[in-house]
Parts: sequence; C-alpha cells; structure tokens
Amino acid sequence: MAKKVAVIGSGFGGLGIALRLQCQGYNVEIFEKQDKLGGHAGQIKEKGYTFDMGPSLITAPQIIENLFSTADRKIEDYLDLHYLDPFYRVYFHDKTFIDYNGKPEEMQKQIAKFNKKDADSYLKFLEFSKEIYKAVIVDGLGAESFHKLGTMLKFAPKFIKTKSIFPGYFQASQFFKDWRTRFLFSFHPLFIGGNPFRVPSIYLMISYLEKEGGVWYSTGGMYSFVTALNKIFEEYGGKSFVNSEVEEIIVDNKKISGLRVNGETRNYDIVVSNADITHTNSKLLKNAKIKSWGDNKLSKAKYSMSCFVLYIGVKKRYPELLHHTLILSPRYKELVKDIFDNHVLPDDFSMYLHVPSKTDRSMAPDGCESIYVLAPVTNLQNPIDWSVKGKVFADMMMDYLENEFGMDGLTDNLDYVSWFTPDDFKNQRNSHLGSPWGLEPILTQTAYFRPHNTSPDIENLYYVGAGTHPGAGVPGVLLSAEATEKLVVKDNPL
Ligand SMILES: Cc1cc2nc3c(=O)[nH]c(=O)nc-3n(C[C@H](O)[C@H](O)[C@H](O)COP(=O)(O)OP(=O)(O)OC[C@H]3O[C@@H](n4cnc5c(N)ncnc54)[C@H](O)[C@@H]3O)c2cc1C
Repeated sequence: MAKKVAVIGSGFGGLGIALRLQCQGYNVEIFEKQDKLGGHAGQIKEKGYTFDMGPSLITAPQIIENLFSTADRKIEDYLDLHYLDPFYRVYFHDKTFIDYNGKPEEMQKQIAKFNKKDADSYLKFLEFSKEIYKAVIVDGLGAESFHKLGTMLKFAPKFIKTKSIFPGYFQASQFFKDWRTRFLFSFHPLFIGGNPFRVPSIYLMISYLEKEGGVWYSTGGMYSFVTALNKIFEEYGGKSFVNSEVEEIIVDNKKISGLRVNGETRNYDIVVSNADITHTNSKLLKNAKIKSWGDNKLSKAKYSMSCFVLYIGVKKRYPELLHHTLILSPRYKELVKDIFDNHVLPDDFSMYLHVPSKTDRSMAPDGCESIYVLAPVTNLQNPIDWSVKGKVFADMMMDYLENEFGMDGLTDNLDYVSWFTPDDFKNQRNSHLGSPWGLEPILTQTAYFRPHNTSPDIENLYYVGAGTHPGAGVPGVLLSAEATEKLVVKDNPL
C-alpha cells in the first residue's frame, strides 16, 4: 500500500512537496486552513478586478520547469508566461528613476547617468553575484538539505570564496558609490524578508537570478500558478481540503501517527508541515518533546518584518506606473532600522506597486487599473492595533500616491479598496508575529543554522517552505520542496 502523507498548508512549498511526492506514488492529502489554496499567494476577485494577494514576480523559471518536468508536464500546457522588460521601475525620492532589466548595456547606460565608475563596476558585480548564483542554483546548494553539519562543511569553501558571509549592503557598497545604485543592488533581500544591512550577501545573487532567468508574468496572475500546481496534483490523484485547520500533529513514541483536523483524527505515515515553523512547533506538536527549535529557541529567534498591502481598483489608467514599480522614501538604512529593530510605524514608507492590468487586461475592467501597494512594516513585536491603524495607514498611502507621487484623481476614481495587515497574516495564516516571511535570514539562521527540512526529534515529520532551508520567496520554497522530497524518499522508500 502506498505510504500516506499529510501536508499541512498549501503555500508554494506545500503544493510543491505534495505534487512531487504524489507523482512518485505516495498517497498525499493537503489540509489548508483558509478557504483557498496558495498560502500567501492568495487571490481577491471583486467588482471585475483581480488581485494577487502576495507574491507577484515570477523568477527562476528553471526551478518551475524542474517541478513541472518532475511531474512529466510542460509549463506551456498550464501557464501562459510573459517576459517583462523592464523588470521594474524604481523611482527615487529626487524624482530620478531607473528601469531595471537583464541587459547589461542598458543597465550600464542608466547607471552611468548617476556615476560613470559605477557603470564599469556593474560588470564586476555581475561576476561576483554569478559565482554565488552558480553555487546556490547551478551546484544545487538551495535544493540540498542542510540537516547535517557535513553538508555545511562541504559548502563552506564556496561560502568563503564567494564572500557570501559579509552583509549585503556592505558588499554592494564595495562595487558602487552612488546611493541609488547601492540601493538597486542591495535591496533584493527584502523580497525574502531579509534586512539588506545584515543579511549575508549570499542573497545578493537574487539580482543575478533575475538577470539570468528574467522576471515573468503569468496570464491571470500568480494565482494561475497555484491553480496549475493543484490541477496537476489532482490529475495524479492527490486530494486537497480547504477550510481545514490542522489542530494537532499526533506523535506516538517519537514517531508520526497522524493529525487531528476538523475535530477528526486521521492516520498518516508521514507529515510535512508547510505552516509557519513557530506555529507548527509551538501549537501543533502539543504533546511532543522538541529539543531543536522548541519554544525556548523560537522565542529567542529573530523574525522578519511584516507588510501592509493595499488592494485598489481605480477607474483610471496611470501611465507612470509599470507592471512592477518601486517608489522610495528618502530614508533607506534608517527606515529599515525602524521596521526591523525599532519596531515603530514611521510617517514615511517605501512602496512596491504591482499593476498586472498593465500586461493583462483581464485583471481590471476597461479603462481601469488593478493595483496592489505593499509597504514593509514592523512585525507584531510592536502590538499595533491594526483594526484602528489599518484605515489610517491606507489613507496615508493613498494620500501620498495622489498628492506627492502624482497619481491624479486616485481617490475620486476609487472603485474598490481593501487591505491586509500584520494582524491578518497572524490570524488568517498563523504567521508568527504577523510576519509572512518568518525567521529572518541572518547568518545564524541560514543553511545548517536554519530549522532543518527534517525533524531531528520526531520520526517522519518534515518541514517545507519559508521557515526551513533555503528560506522564503517563491524560488526558495520551491527549492525547499525538492530538498524535503529527497529526505522523505530516502527515509521512506516506496
Ligand atoms: C505581500 C507579499 C508579497 C510577496 N512577494 C513575493 C514575490 O514577488 N516574489 C517572491 O519570490 N516571494 C514573495 N513573497 C514571499 C513568498 O510569497 C513566500 O515566501 C512564499 O509564498 C511562502 O510559501 P510557503 O510555502 O512558505 O507557504 P505560505 O505561503 O506561508 O503558506 C502556508 C500555508 O499554511 C497554512 N496554515 C497555517 N497553519 C495551518 C494549520 N494549522 N492547518 C492548515 N493550514 C495551515 C496557511 O493558511 C498558509 O496557507 C511575498 C510575500 C508576501 C506576503
């Protein structure tokens, strides 16, 4: 009889591992707390507008390709992907901007407008980040479980050779002098919940990953990727259940026995948790002794920022916005410090806007735009009352966009608005401290030092997704599914 596997949570990590194991012949069931699959990659459909709730940039298509080919499927039969050029526009506070893409000559021309020497250094930076990219993606560091110290030691010379342990911003500053270019090549770790000023510079390879593989959009938005993975999973006979919050992982004599979900006990041979790691270990393993990453260690861990996301449907089009646009505060280091360390809610913000209606007219009614605006904010280490502050913050963001950035008529043409706060991440998705990225990617919480993809305490309990190796972000959690799959298959051959 095929081994029975339960996957808790349906983020990309959960869907990835479920699909990988189901198509190998395991009997997999997914349990998702929310009423839709996808985890942070949820979807809102209102008044003719469609919004992706979370991740919006498709990068590293080869990682997606790898997942599809494992399931013996072709991407083009499920997704209609479009290459974006530029990848995004970054507006600086002095009204200058840069259109970021993967073409070195075009990048050099734009960088030279700010500082000629930086344009030459760009090629050196590419060489530097390519080395890290090769180690993580090509040589497979990302898809390899780091649960053994030996694996860490094997990769240590690469970590050292690629100077991956120095802080990201420091490393970017060795190449670039202009403050705009320093921002451009150090901010990427924020995509995966990292503080650019202390994240190990291994994460600077994200810009190279974008250059190499491109930034893509899938017709219908990111949610079409969720739907595609679940469709293939079901084609192989897998089952997924929504509105099904797992209440307990049942452990018998340090070994998985099953789950309690919707008041019912179900038996499984293997459990893979894609839920937030702190939620899993503190709340679901009620009667199990956890030595590694137990309550004590988790309470001392460092957690990433949270974010506030505004979803706007507007009866007007805005040519100044691209498919992806960043609008920056004059403050970089200080703002990051306020968010990550001071845990305050300052009056200024840096924003990322996703406007899929630029590329895909099915995402908004004719003449309208579907816009999501994301501002990184402190996690709930500062227990802000978002039921009150949410409206205030939403109004502040819209006021800034209309009156300072120049989106004329935004409020007069507003057709739909809603928002998602750190409280919502906590309450709706069980994200500890309302941080959708979970454990902050700092050196002491990376690779071997991050929670492992397999539990050292409970036989046949595994982890997948942002809280484990290699970490957050869609490419990261898809790689974690591959790393976890290898362990499950090795420990539990069919
Ligand atoms: C607003 C936003 C924008 C982002 N943009 C990008 C981007 O452009 N590119 C990128 O690469 N990354 C981006 N990210 C990060 C990326 O979305 C995440 O790192 C990734 O999607 C996390 O996937 P995961 O597999 O860890 O699962 P999650 O998405 O964290 O899903 C976990 C699931 O588990 C469920 N769950 C929790 N507890 C239980 C329980 N007890 N029982 C059942 N189910 C449970 C939750 O409801 C949730 O659905 C963004 C994140 C956010 C929030």
